[in-house]
Amino acid sequence: MNATSIATVSLSGDLAEKLQAIAAAGYDAVEVFENDFLTFDGSPRDVGKMITDLGLTICAFQPFRDFEGMPEPLRARTFARAERKFAIMNELGAELMLICSNVSPQSLGGIDRAAADFRELGALAAKYDVRVGFEALAWGRHVNDYRDAWEIVRRAGHERIGLILDSFHTLARHSPLEPIASIPGDRIFLVQLADAPKLDMDVLSWSRHFRCFPGQGDLAVADFVKAVEQTGYSGPLSHEIFNDQFRAGSARRLATDGMRSLIQLADQTKPHLPPRADILGVEFIEFALDEDTAHDLATLFSALGFRRTGTHRSKSVTRWSQGGINLVLNTEKDGFAQSHAIMHGPGVCAITLRVADVAQTMARARALKIAPFEQPVGPGEMEIPAIRGVGGSLIYFTEPKGSLAHIWEADFNPEAPTSSAPALLDSVDHISQSMDYEEMLSWLLFYTSLFALERVPQLAIADPAGLVESRPIVSPDGALRFVLNGSQATRTLSSRFVSEHFGSGVQHIAFAAPDIFAAVKAMRAAGLSFLDIPENYYEDLEARHGLDPDYIDALREHHILYDRDGDAEFLQVYTHVFAQRFFFEIVERRGGYVGFGAVNASVRLAAQAREARPVTMPRPLRD
Ligand code: MG
Ligand code: MG
Repeated sequence: MNATSIATVSLSGDLAEKLQAIAAAGYDAVEVFENDFLTFDGSPRDVGKMITDLGLTICAFQPFRDFEGMPEPLRARTFARAERKFAIMNELGAELMLICSNVSPQSLGGIDRAAADFRELGALAAKYDVRVGFEALAWGRHVNDYRDAWEIVRRAGHERIGLILDSFHTLARHSPLEPIASIPGDRIFLVQLADAPKLDMDVLSWSRHFRCFPGQGDLAVADFVKAVEQTGYSGPLSHEIFNDQFRAGSARRLATDGMRSLIQLADQTKPHLPPRADILGVEFIEFALDEDTAHDLATLFSALGFRRTGTHRSKSVTRWSQGGINLVLNTEKDGFAQSHAIMHGPGVCAITLRVADVAQTMARARALKIAPFEQPVGPGEMEIPAIRGVGGSLIYFTEPKGSLAHIWEADFNPEAPTSSAPALLDSVDHISQSMDYEEMLSWLLFYTSLFALERVPQLAIADPAGLVESRPIVSPDGALRFVLNGSQATRTLSSRFVSEHFGSGVQHIAFAAPDIFAAVKAMRAAGLSFLDIPENYYEDLEARHGLDPDYIDALREHHILYDRDGDAEFLQVYTHVFAQRFFFEIVERRGGYVGFGAVNASVRLAAQAREARPVTMPRPLRD
């Protein structure tokens, strides 16, 4: 594997915080971003020593701007500026300077002129025993393609002058990757990596605000790395990310995300880890709460058609089931569930996923630096392997073979069902989790690097300047869908709605009903009421879809929201919010509908806001 590196500009914090986070995440090297260095109170030698003391090397000092093709007298000044930086690099212990292609309107074009400038700079670099790498910016004035940058480096013909490749600048411009293979690996001085979501905007803003780690965006970074491998390049692979979410996030979390991204990328180019785990289904969802709240939730479960089917052999834990769904109520006075309830209030403390091979899933998690979670288990109780998930919750794993196929028999005394009524609900359709906006890309990478889950392509960024963003990730066969909802950490109403009402963690769970009308009817007969939907919604529905008035009446009568995509239909209904924390949704998908009823989200949010307390309507939250 190539050495691992990250540019300090990618992380939040001051230079010392960034470097500590980078070292803790296990990188080999850093690119020192000049501005991080300039704003740090310490001499170049101090900074150099801090970096070596952390066990890191400096793989580049960057960026040096607007060098090549300058007319005199700017040219002489540019060379003098470069020489001053070389002297600083000597103090710092940096051996490679990154020069990005000139964007100055005063610069002159011409490949030979640029090559001559670099040849002369090579001689100056030799005096300081440093090297210079040239990178084509996608928006460079005369050089904006790596093939032109390489031609300039080739014509410069100086051993101190080499090429720097950057996946973003290459892939953003749709430059072909095949010609990379014909560049000699020893003439490539550094390879920088960044991904980005597909967005229709100018390249400069796209690059400055929306870069992300490979695996979090839509660019073919793995193909880029495969092309680089063809050259025999053996230097570092270095993240260079400019992203507003990153700048607001935790340096340690982001540094670890970057390492996870590099590990996944290495596995994509040369597979060597256990494969991403296929999620076969949800074994159970566990709620942690106190006795009183648990009683109320059990009442709600009953009304939803769940029956108590087991009690834990040694703990204050009950099992509730219907169809293929299992819910677990945990009111233990100590242990993980109790501490979760204290920290986060009543809610989901664990999700248990059925995977094909638990040992392989845990091995891949460890390789991706996802820490396993362990807690003491009682005598004779099963130890279920687990990792940490969103908001301090756990993800447990079971599998269809061996002892982990028999957790219920092992830990629970079965109870005979009190009713033989047919199940109203048959599976978990989706799990919606809310989190800080800054954490969304982290959890996206977490889920998609460990599990065979894919982002739904048409739902990338809802609103680039926006406050609430929603990202569904789904298993290819639809066995499970997660929806990650993020709200920017500002004092906006939408942010307050998420943070005060639901908090980080599971916001709602949607169950699939074979017949949503029958389910609502039976649940109402059992005493349940559903979220009130305004009359205007149904009148608009009639106008939009031209549905039969009787059908509209039935939807209205059952408080059901409706969406259609071609011939595919989606019906959804919501419970009231439970304990101001979470709620349940019941959905029926007809004809292969793949979405989440996004058009109805604002109606649902407004209805919930009306019920909760006087809050002005937040912006739509897609789910
Ligand atoms: Mg770059
Ligand atoms: Mg939903």
